[in-house]
Amino acid sequence: MINSYFYRTVVIPNYTEENCKDDCQFKRVDEGYIILFEDRIRKAAEYIDSKISAGVLNIENSIKFLVLCHELGHWLTHWPLDSNGLRWDCRYYFNPDTNEADIITHEALAQLITYWCAEGHPLHEEILSEFLTPKNPTSAYNMYLALVGISKVDILERLKLLRANMGCNALLTDETAYNLLKTPSFMSEIQHWAKEHSIRKIDLNLDDLKVLEKSILNRFLIHRYGREIEYDYILCMLEKEGILDEHAKSILKFDKRFCI
Ligand SMILES: [Zn+2]
Repeated sequence: MINSYFYRTVVIPNYTEENCKDDCQFKRVDEGYIILFEDRIRKAAEYIDSKISAGVLNIENSIKFLVLCHELGHWLTHWPLDSNGLRWDCRYYFNPDTNEADIITHEALAQLITYWCAEGHPLHEEILSEFLTPKNPTSAYNMYLALVGISKVDILERLKLLRANMGCNALLTDETAYNLLKTPSFMSEIQHWAKEHSIRKIDLNLDDLKVLEKSILNRFLIHRYGREIEYDYILCMLEKEGILDEHAKSILKFDKRFCI
């Protein structure tokens, strides 16, 4: 198993001196650049050819394609502006709170984008799944597998949500952002949380939830994953933030007696 992209390619962002916000010391990063290490790719190709005999040159070209897609996956997730006018240039990878790199969400997304690029090409698919994906499910490079069933549109929508809710003074961490990303259905998750994480054991109607404004649902999910607090208390937070209108309160069965 060859499981480290680091030895074949790398994205190098530069940390600037600019703070992300006035009250936040996290530094912004710039666009960065990508390096492919040709000698290491050749070595990996020779190793893989000894296992699957597909021709060193074919394998070398396939690895180059895949590792470039992986690094471009990092670029896509962090650099281009989204429709909210945001990019992910704050605390990219390095977490000054823990002094460690945040890699779960970033690597899972980069691997997922590589998977999208490889789809339908047998050699790319085989090399990605057999040689560039560690079998250990706790490896960040394996964790994209939990995301492949989620539509590309949903993943890109969720990326916008992460960009707006990670970094300075934000609720989501590397782990909780990944948990949000891999949620099969946001509506069902809210329904589940109301039933299982409220002393009232509330039954919410899925059809009613579908007409709720997306901004309210998204904000609910940020609290649910970021804080892991009880359903009723999340509604209190949303009420405090002033985003619940009367219609939303009735659909979500808000009851202010549960607010302190
Ligand atoms: Zn990576």
